[in-house]
Amino acid sequence: MKHLIHKTAAVAALAALATLATGALAQGQWPAKDRAITIVVPFVAGGPTDRVARDLAEAMRKPLGVSVVVDNAGGAGGAIGANKVAKAQPDGYTVLLHHISMATMPTLVRNIPFKVESDFEYLGMVNEVPMTVIGRPTLPANNFRELTTWINQNKAKINLGNAGVGSASHLCGLLLQAALGVDMTAIPYKGTAPAMTDLIGGQIDIMCDQTTNTTAQIETKNVKGFAVTTTKRLTTPALKDLPTLQESGLKDFQVSIWHGLYAPKGTPAAEQARLNAALKVALKDPDFIKKQEGLGAVIFTDNRVEPAEHKKFVASEIQKWAPIIKKAGVYID
Ligand code: ASP
Repeated sequence: MKHLIHKTAAVAALAALATLATGALAQGQWPAKDRAITIVVPFVAGGPTDRVARDLAEAMRKPLGVSVVVDNAGGAGGAIGANKVAKAQPDGYTVLLHHISMATMPTLVRNIPFKVESDFEYLGMVNEVPMTVIGRPTLPANNFRELTTWINQNKAKINLGNAGVGSASHLCGLLLQAALGVDMTAIPYKGTAPAMTDLIGGQIDIMCDQTTNTTAQIETKNVKGFAVTTTKRLTTPALKDLPTLQESGLKDFQVSIWHGLYAPKGTPAAEQARLNAALKVALKDPDFIKKQEGLGAVIFTDNRVEPAEHKKFVASEIQKWAPIIKKAGVYID
């Protein structure tokens, strides 16, 4: 009898262990070893958002234990890619890397097909990237003062590149035109990578773009760097001599491009937590830090890497930008 009880207890213990193991397996099923996690970039490959995403994908691969791939879904200033993720299966395999447009699109672009505040799960913020005002190498101006003279002489004849209505380059270009009191001709692309090619080739004249895309081009003199959009000058060697727009006389001009990671609404809480944990590991990855800092980016280490703070920050940025955009009189129907 004693023996029997013992046996029954052992069987029960084994059964409990088996249940635990199945439970652990069920929990461990995400991410499945044979499935990659896709980071959707709402701009074409080779541009600044793509640069951040590719470096991040590499750094998140290890903590997630599966491949992390980048899917470029450019167009409509970042709205197409964002919409793709808003409507994607909420299974943890599709995430979105997007920038400040998540906060400016709701004011800049009327009728966007998704709701920034309720169609996504917020997974944490990544970094902040300054912008630069750059020009084609043949432009007859060598500093920001000469650039403003040239802009005033040529106005609407000037082709101002951007990554589409609602993009960061579009916002920066709109603010620049409002601050200078001139209207230039906007030339939209599906990302600033192709716009950069045309700027180098002289097909367009000027552009605002993130340092993650412009640093190397300014350094090699493929384009002319005129100013930075931050309140302080940058320390990156290739950019340290560029004046800020504020010191160049454009009062209150300040725009920095922050990035955050999002999942479709309804992504399971456990997957959200794992993605956030992997993001935090990536943000401490020395290789990721080195690559991003070399391009002028500042990696977030504050509480904005927490999903709740990320969400609060985006909501505050929507409030911050709405009056500025409205005051500049810029929006797209
Ligand atoms: N820099 C672009 C923008 O203006 C986006 C990109 O091509 O990454 O938003």
